[in-house]
Amino acid sequence: MVAPEVTPETQQEHPAHWKKKCPDCSGAGHISYGKTYGSFPCPSCGGSGEVFVFPREVREKCPRRVMMEDAGYDPGRRCPPGCIHCHGHSTVPSEDVDVWWVVLDGLGFEARPHRRLGKWEMSLYVGEISTYWGDGGEGETLLEALIETVKKVGRA
Ligand SMILES: [Zn+2]
Ligand SMILES: [Zn+2]
Repeated sequence: MVAPEVTPETQQEHPAHWKKKCPDCSGAGHISYGKTYGSFPCPSCGGSGEVFVFPREVREKCPRRVMMEDAGYDPGRRCPPGCIHCHGHSTVPSEDVDVWWVVLDGLGFEARPHRRLGKWEMSLYVGEISTYWGDGGEGETLLEALIETVKKVGRA
């Protein structure tokens, strides 16, 4: 398993909005080409020094922006911090189970049936981390259990 190096500030967020230090500029936000050429903003992170941990499929356009566009208004590139849908992220986490399944697959995830208290249950494993779901498990739905597993990996 490769645990994502989530920045402490974003660890409290939904995993869709987790960020890590940009691997291309090591978090500096710029890339230096030496004395002659100087340094330029890093194209991978746009100069912020941070990139999202998970690919863009886990984020969907904020419904406020979709609504405004549908009504013919220009919502701008970013939502205000007070947006009730996205709190300024401008995107909302995907609720597509397949998308999160693929994310966990990339973390070395497997689902295993096992017996607990005489009943068959399903557990989601990533390395040493496991999450039960279904009856008495964490998360009412498979989506919740998947997200909970991703969160445990990020805190590991
Ligand atoms: Zn960068
Ligand atoms: Zn928004």
